[in-house]
Amino acid sequence: LMQLSVPLNFIGFVYREIRQGLTDIEQMFDLLNVDPEIVDKPEAKPLAVDKGAIVFKDVQFAYDPDRPILKGISFEVPAGKTVAVVGPSGAGKSTISRLLYRFYDVQSGSITIDGQDVRDVTQQSLRAVIGMVPQDTVLFNDTVAYNIRYGRTDATDAEIEQATEVAQISHFIHDLPQGFKTMVGERGLKLSGGEKQRVAIARTVLKAPPILILDEATSALDTTTEQDIQAALDIVSKNRTTLVIAHRLSTVVTADEIIVLKAGQIAERGTHQDLLSQNGLYASMWNRQLEATQAEENLRKVRESD
Ligand code: ADP
Ligand code: MG
Repeated sequence: LMQLSVPLNFIGFVYREIRQGLTDIEQMFDLLNVDPEIVDKPEAKPLAVDKGAIVFKDVQFAYDPDRPILKGISFEVPAGKTVAVVGPSGAGKSTISRLLYRFYDVQSGSITIDGQDVRDVTQQSLRAVIGMVPQDTVLFNDTVAYNIRYGRTDATDAEIEQATEVAQISHFIHDLPQGFKTMVGERGLKLSGGEKQRVAIARTVLKAPPILILDEATSALDTTTEQDIQAALDIVSKNRTTLVIAHRLSTVVTADEIIVLKAGQIAERGTHQDLLSQNGLYASMWNRQLEATQAEENLRKVRESD
C-alpha cells in the first residue's frame, strides 16, 4: 500500500502544480491583456543585459488599427537612471510599459535594450531582466508566501522576510491570522490596492532585476501608505534602470528626466525644474496637485480640531 500511495501522491502533487501553473499563466495573460500573437522568432536569442540602457525610437502603436495610441515616441533611459512618464489619463503611459515588456509589438519604430531589439530576443529572457510593478496587481489564489516567492522561486524564507521589510509590508503580514500562510486573492483575503502593490514590490525586490517598470496605482492612497510605498520604491530603484509611470508628481521630482505625454505624443520633457520654468502642462499639473494636497491637509486640520 505504501508503495502505491507514494506515486499517487506524487501524481496528485504534479497535477496540482501543473494546474496551478496553468491558472497562473492564464491569469497573467488575462490580467495583462497580452496579445497571444506575440511569439519568439525562430532565431530569437536570449537578451544579453550589460547595463540595461533602454531606447525607444520613433515608436508608433495602436491596439485597434484605426485608433493610434502612441504617435512617434522617442526617449532613452540611460543605464541606472530613472525616467518618469507623466500625463493625463488615457495618454498612453501604461502602453509604453506594456510595449517594453513586449506584451505587444510596436507598429513602427523600435525598442531596444543594450542595443538589442526586444522583438529579436526570447520573451523569457526579456521578462527575466525586467521587474514590473503594474498599476493593478492581481494576486494568485494562493498564500501570501506563494505570491511573493513568485518573484524568485528558489528564494529562502529569510530572503522573503527581508523583501517584505523593504516593501514595508512585513508588519501587515505578521498581523494576519495565518501570517505568510494566509490565503489571498479572489478566494481568500482581499487586500487593498496599496497592500497588493506592496506585495508586488516585495516580489520585485526578491527578483532584483536590472530593469524596473513601476506603474503607480491611480487609486488615492492615504498619505502614510503613499510615503511607505515611495520609500520602498526608492530603495528598489536605486542604481537600476527605472521607468516610472507616475500619477503623483511628488514621486518624479528626483527623476533624471520627466516625459510629459499627451494624446500619444511627447508634449514636454526635462527635469522637474526645467519643466516648472517652462510653465506649461507639467507646471499646471504640478500646481493643481499642490492645491489638492493643500486642500486635503486643511480638511484634515479642520477635522482634527473638531
Ligand atoms: P494611461 O496609462 O496613460 O492612462 P493607457 O496606455 O492605459 O493610458 O491607454 C491609452 C489608450 O489606449 C486609452 O485610450 C485606452 O483606452 C486604450 N487602451 C488601453 N488598453 C487597451 C486595449 N487592450 N485595447 C484597446 N484599447 C486600449
Ligand atoms: Mg495607466
